[in-house]
Parts: sequence; C-alpha cells; structure tokens
Amino acid sequence: MSEFTPLVRVAAIAALALSGVVAAFATMAPGIPAPPAEAALVEPVTLRPAESLLPAPASFQREERFQRGDTLAGMLGRLGISDSEARRLMRTPALRLLRPGHTVAGEVNAEGELLRLSYLAGRGTLTTVERFGEAFRTMEGAAPLRAEVVMRSGTIRSSLFAAADASGVPDSVAVQIADIFAGDVDFHRELREGDRFAVVYEQYFLNGRPVHAGRVLAAEFVNQGRRFRALHYALAQGGGGYYAPDGSNLRKAFLRSPLEYSRISSGFGMRRHPFQRTWRAHSGIDFAAPTGTRVRAAGDGVVEFAGPKPGYGNMVTVRHRGQYSTVYAHLSRFAPGVQRGARVAQGDAVGFVGQTGWATGPHLHYEFRIAGQSRNPYAIAMPAGEPVPPAEVAAYRRHAEPLLARLELLAANPIALLE
Ligand SMILES: [Zn+2]
Repeated sequence: MSEFTPLVRVAAIAALALSGVVAAFATMAPGIPAPPAEAALVEPVTLRPAESLLPAPASFQREERFQRGDTLAGMLGRLGISDSEARRLMRTPALRLLRPGHTVAGEVNAEGELLRLSYLAGRGTLTTVERFGEAFRTMEGAAPLRAEVVMRSGTIRSSLFAAADASGVPDSVAVQIADIFAGDVDFHRELREGDRFAVVYEQYFLNGRPVHAGRVLAAEFVNQGRRFRALHYALAQGGGGYYAPDGSNLRKAFLRSPLEYSRISSGFGMRRHPFQRTWRAHSGIDFAAPTGTRVRAAGDGVVEFAGPKPGYGNMVTVRHRGQYSTVYAHLSRFAPGVQRGARVAQGDAVGFVGQTGWATGPHLHYEFRIAGQSRNPYAIAMPAGEPVPPAEVAAYRRHAEPLLARLELLAANPIALLE
C-alpha cells in the first residue's frame, strides 16, 4: 500500500492534462484550517516569574512505525530513548502489545528519558505510557479521532489492488469494494482492463495523520461495461447494508466466486490464461488459485460434510436454504471450526486452496447443487436479499441523493492528484 497522501494536496483540474495519475480526490468536509504555527509566534506569552527562571524543557517528539521483524528495543532506540531507559520500559506490559503497523509517537528528553509515548491500539483506543516520577504509568482512552469523507476513483490496469494503490485507496477499502459487489462480479475472473471504480468512504485521522479507513459509504463499479452502484444504508427498523439506487439489495444468496479476493490472490486471474469453465466435463467449476487462498462459503448454511473424500481430497459440503448445497474440494486444510453441523455465514472461510485428491495443481473444485444435482451457478438467476422496505424508501432516497451526486461527480470529472 502506498503512503496515504495528505488531504491538503488537492490539485487543480488543470493538472489532469499533465498527469497520468488516475486518482480522483476531494473531501465532503469543509477545508482543513491552516496550521496555526505562524499565529502562535506573534502571540504575547506571559510567564509567571517562577516559570521564567526554569530552563526551557528540552524534549524531542518523534514518530516511529513498528515494522515487521522490528524489535521493541530497536524501535525505542529510533525514538531516541537511551538503552538503560529502554530496558526499563520493555517491562511495561502495554509495550508488549505493539504489533507491526502500529505507529508510536514519543516525547523524549535530552537525556534519552521517555516523557510520554502513545499509540493507537485497537480501533479508536489510544494507549499512553507516561513518566510518573521514576515509574511509568499506562493509560488507555478513546482516541480523539476525526473522520473525514474521502472520494476517490481509479481504473483497473491489472488488479483492483494495483488500481487502489495508484489512486491512494487503502487495502481495507479495496477489500470492501470487492465484498460489496461480490454477488455480481467475480473479481478473479471477470475483471478487465479499463474497468473503473469510484468510492466514497470514511477516513479517520489522529492529530492530522490518517490512521485507518472506515466504512465505504457509496461505491460504483463498472465491469465490462456493466455499471453497479451501491449505497450503504442503515434501516430504521434495524439491519441494513448495501443497496442499489433503486433500493434493491446488493447482497445475493450466493457469492459469484467462493475465492476470497485478496492482494495475494488478485494477480493470478489476469496473468494466467482465463481459466476454462469445464463444468460440462466434470460437473463443477475449477478455480486456479495459489495454495492457501481463503475459500469462502458462497452462502449462509450449515456444514454437512468436512473431511477427506477419494478424488476430491479435503472436501467441505455446505447445505443452504431450499434445495441448494455447495461443495469445495482439493483443500489444503479446513478453516477452524468447520465440521459437520457448524453454521457458516456467507463469506466465512471454510478452508484454503490446495491440491489434495486428484489435482494436478493447486485449485479449488467448486460445485453448486440443486436437489443434489450439480448445476452451473452462472446459468441460474440467483435470489437477492431483501430490498429497502416500502416504508423506508422515501428516507432512503433522501440519503442516497447526495451520495449518488458524488459518484456522478467522480465519474464525470476525475480530479488529478498531485504528488
Ligand atoms: Zn474440478
């Protein structure tokens, strides 16, 4: 994932002609106030006499990212913390919870002693370790996060993730886009060069720095000329999800592909020859995929069988409502908890791609059965989830209107982003 580009660098439309960057960008929130640094310089400062006798506190503020393969000692050293201080700090339980990806802000004095250190632990939780005399005190509290609504768009050249990178869209948002349209688009096999997305999502900031993306509020995906649009909507009666502009539900009873679309698996579909649908030959569909790719339950259901079977290798069968069942074979292993009688929701992992049984290479053998008969799922119209109920249609339209306007704006006037 490329570094997030600061919000303030929004370029003029004129840059479009000069730049090949296929990113569009704007914020719905009002502009960010200019940093007040210069104003602070001319502000009169009144010091009480006792304070004015003290030397100015010499401390340094630094930010460091805890990286994969990093050691706690190494990261504390980069923050400017002395070795002896680091040894004491390493006994602080809160610092043992640091994981790769965490960004740690530290304030350290000239002697290499820690004054204060903080990092965003879970979503929205700020952990602070502060000097308290000769000891350290740990505090946890709600992080003062600020949310902004961000709009971006991109064009597919190789994979959705590559396009997301090019337009500064975080992975978590790319994954949401793939999930939102998973009932209509098989992102492994149906993605084409020239497909486009536009997305409106929440981005959270801590002290002016982007920390994580939130929910996708609206998205558009154009796949092989077919245009899909989705708007998030919470129903007044409870529940909700993603709906098309006409109020129909984006969620289908079955996913278009049982393979999870991830950064790791996203490349193969474009590099390889489009995988042949050999359904006629052996009553199933083969999906070529790297070993270990997550295999998802195509719909809600109950595990009917999970174990080895001759020819099929490690196999899972899920029974769904009505007469439907799905079969996943040649798995390298099963997902935790997947055994006969276990409930699975659509999208839950049932196992991982492998080549157990009669398989010449790693792939998923997938069968879609109706009343025990294997059928081609692409030839069957799939039932969708419940639409917006009639009582809420008017409220939904009011909610949808400004979001649709943003998507239109993105589609019509992609604004280039200056790096
Ligand atoms: Zn097969």
